[in-house]
Amino acid sequence: MTSPAAIEVRGVQMAYDETVALRDVTVEIPTGCLVGVVGPNGAGKSTLIKGLVGAREPDRGELRFFGKPATKKRPFLTYVPQRGAVDWDFPITAEGVVRQGRFRSVGLLTRFSAEERGKVEAAMEAVDITALRSRQIGNLSGGQQQRVFLARALCQGGEIYVLDEPFAGVDASTESAIMDVLRGLRDEGKTVVVVHHDLSTVREYFDRLILLNQVVVAAGPTEEVFTAENLQETYRGQVAVVVE
Ligand code: ADP
Repeated sequence: MTSPAAIEVRGVQMAYDETVALRDVTVEIPTGCLVGVVGPNGAGKSTLIKGLVGAREPDRGELRFFGKPATKKRPFLTYVPQRGAVDWDFPITAEGVVRQGRFRSVGLLTRFSAEERGKVEAAMEAVDITALRSRQIGNLSGGQQQRVFLARALCQGGEIYVLDEPFAGVDASTESAIMDVLRGLRDEGKTVVVVHHDLSTVREYFDRLILLNQVVVAAGPTEEVFTAENLQETYRGQVAVVVE
């Protein structure tokens, strides 16, 4: 028997008043893959993410995780929001943000055990931010902030990781550090979903791809889905598409 898909989206519709963001979206994400969600601005990528992480209910359709209907609480799912969606004036250190990853298990007012502290340290080391631990988060560079958020996600753990544009505004070395971590998670059998903008890295980065523009234009293994024809249809002439 094959194991159930990590994520199944079945006939999902999501709208904001008159604006339909997702129309009859059906897609399956197998367990243990690194999948990119790609499409133009306004394609519904963030809306799909909101649905997956439970921030917004689908108006129609169904979400299933590991073969079971989605419930409100999704402790197996870890979310890394867009950097732009975060209040950077909030007075908290880099380490403080990473420690937030344990609050779901530890509780806000409980002292961290040695084991919990070990998880925080390991997560900071994985993205090379131990030297930044005492810095205020608002004073870090875009790349450093993104590393801190990834460390928080690692610290939290989970079976499914959802990242909304993790490479936006980060330097090249951070981008490659993030990719190393995401590949590592995939190799451990975790499922990683990444909203992504840069078509030039799609083939290198993702095992599977979901091309989205209100509807799913194509989904499946990257080498099958990443074709000039599919990209033309997804972007509807908004970009010049070059696929060698
Ligand atoms: P993407 O992440 O691909 O850029 P979004 O999911 O943010 O796309 O948006 C999909 C559509 O829904 C767009 O037409 C956008 O204008 C609309 N939309 C997104 N968020 C809201 C909102 N909070 N209120 C009204 N319309 C929204």
